[in-house]
Amino acid sequence: MKKISIDLHTHTVASSHAFSTITENAHIAAQKDLQIIACTDHGPELPGGANKIFFKSQRCIPRFIEGVGILRGIEANIDDNGKIDCTPSMMDYLDIVMAGFHAPVYSDARFENHNTEMMIRVIASGKVDVITHPANVNYPINLKAVVKAARKHNVALELNASPYTRTNSRTMAVELVKTAANAGVHLVMGSDAHICFDVGRFDLGYEILDEAGTGSEYLLNSDPVRLLSFLKGRGHDSVDDFISHFSEKGSV
Ligand SMILES: [Zn+2]
Ligand SMILES: [Zn+2]
Repeated sequence: MKKISIDLHTHTVASSHAFSTITENAHIAAQKDLQIIACTDHGPELPGGANKIFFKSQRCIPRFIEGVGILRGIEANIDDNGKIDCTPSMMDYLDIVMAGFHAPVYSDARFENHNTEMMIRVIASGKVDVITHPANVNYPINLKAVVKAARKHNVALELNASPYTRTNSRTMAVELVKTAANAGVHLVMGSDAHICFDVGRFDLGYEILDEAGTGSEYLLNSDPVRLLSFLKGRGHDSVDDFISHFSEKGSV
């Protein structure tokens, strides 16, 4: 299986329950020969999430640390009304906006219909590029309906490779990969690292892809240029340093 060299889902100490800095994350990413990592700390509504100013301040992060490209991002929280805690003024500074269900911001996950409706509301809002960990048995959804909406609105869905959480969601994750691949919906893989050592840790994701019979080449983050053109297509400014760097490397 082709190695994924982009980790789109990493947390830093800006989320108070995570343990590493952006430089530590980038250092491990460089050791693992990753090309890009996205810094995607939790939105401000989650207890211990990063504050609004943090997201705007990401503009001071160098585009490359130890040769690893850094995308400025957020993992926003979906609330009970299908809204996210990422304002337009925050978005102006971000290269990638992801969002997912997290307690206690999303307070009642019991009902599949409601979860599905709120997730689709976020997908249709035009504000979010990637839905994080949609395959989570604690937040049951109608996968087919979510995949259909993701296709319609050109939003990517994440195969979350964290071994610490959602391990009971493996069957659902396999189903997600199969359903998304059949529908031609963008899938990305993320480590959801909360400590630098887990950056680029995709073993569980590879196992799930294998079980679903889908190669990793299918994933949007298997190629930098493909990922960057997706983000541009989603309305983000292109990162000029990345375009020249990754095109020169022949990753087109
Ligand atoms: Zn999350
Ligand atoms: Zn996360």
